[in-house]
Amino acid sequence: MAGTTANQLIREFQEHFETGIVPAVYRAPGRVNLIGEHTDYNDGLVLPTALEMACYAAVAPAQHGLLRVFAKDLNQSREWPVATLGELRQSHDWSDYIIGVVQQLLIDGYETRSCDLYITSEVPVGSGLSSSAALEVASALAFLDGRPLDRLELARLCQRAEVQFVGMPCGIMDQYTSIFGQQGSAIEIDCRNLQYELVALPQDVRILAVNTMVKHELSSSAYRERVAECGAAVEAIGVVNQSVTSLRDVSPAYFGQIQDSLPVIPRKRARHIVTENERVLDFATAARSGDLAEMGRLFIASHRSLQYDFEVSCEELDFLVDTAIKMDGVYGSRMTGGGFGGCTVNLVAPGAVQTFHDGIVKAYQKRYQIEPVFYECNPSPGAGRL
Ligand code: ADP
Ligand code: MG
Repeated sequence: MAGTTANQLIREFQEHFETGIVPAVYRAPGRVNLIGEHTDYNDGLVLPTALEMACYAAVAPAQHGLLRVFAKDLNQSREWPVATLGELRQSHDWSDYIIGVVQQLLIDGYETRSCDLYITSEVPVGSGLSSSAALEVASALAFLDGRPLDRLELARLCQRAEVQFVGMPCGIMDQYTSIFGQQGSAIEIDCRNLQYELVALPQDVRILAVNTMVKHELSSSAYRERVAECGAAVEAIGVVNQSVTSLRDVSPAYFGQIQDSLPVIPRKRARHIVTENERVLDFATAARSGDLAEMGRLFIASHRSLQYDFEVSCEELDFLVDTAIKMDGVYGSRMTGGGFGGCTVNLVAPGAVQTFHDGIVKAYQKRYQIEPVFYECNPSPGAGRL
């Protein structure tokens, strides 16, 4: 556990809600995606790992007839009569993730009883490490509080909360990884059949995320736009080949045959998705054989594809990548998450971690007058009760 302990949370819960009751504490981690970016909502392949950094939800039943929530990190409280939860509309703030989960649970026949909920998270917000999925999964486990729900159904339910209530048309990678993450391994998820395979990473490499500390305004509108553009590419290909129902159906060889028939934007977006799915397979193979040079090469190829074909990078991300890959002991670097800010993920030799840190801080500060924040990404277990 990265810094937060159950006992500490129980004490804070009791002080905040002025009660002696001992809450149950649930943990749901953030994630870093190693490779396979923007492929999840295209039925494609992704290769993330769950982080030590997690969201924690302490919950206890109450008699006041309300759902009361305290978001510690924002120092904000919200409360609603339990009977009104099914009717609530978006408030365009953090509580949407929680109410979205409550409403999906209701739809699936799990009513929310009166309770107090205390939320805190170590996952940096809006940095591409999925603080939102960590919040959804921790909240869902807290509301279920021991009632059984299949783990895949839980992932789907949390995804629906984000798509339908928050209004972000995300794929399932974030919620799935927060639930199915494994200590010591990345997971290769097939977002079409929702199965995963463990991918053990070589011992002699560190995974470091570096936060640009920026999130550009267009990130959520551009995300929606990319989802639509991928849909347009499928439609255009579907005109000549009806068996293509998603970009997952398009092999690199087939893409080579038909790419000239596509308008330029759908062609570039599709080329990213088609080649990125291949890079996930190649990366898993390279990881299994400990081929760090090849893993690094695939990281950089993925970044260039996101930069030039999918066009979701930004100057700060490109600067971090371009700076990192010139440094000794850095195998590869790429943006991770939706893009337009947030983090890069880097494969660094253990002996080079300090010079990597110092060199990046110096260069980034000189260029942007901002100190980037570093996170060690040790593959960690998925969500559960503490
Ligand atoms: P990411 O998932 O990449 O971190 P998102 O924009 O998808 O970024 O989700 C971030 C949002 O999730 C925040 O703006 C906030 O509404 C909610 N959130 C995340 N962590 C917390 C937290 N600790 N407390 C309250 N809300 C949070
Ligand atoms: Mg998110």
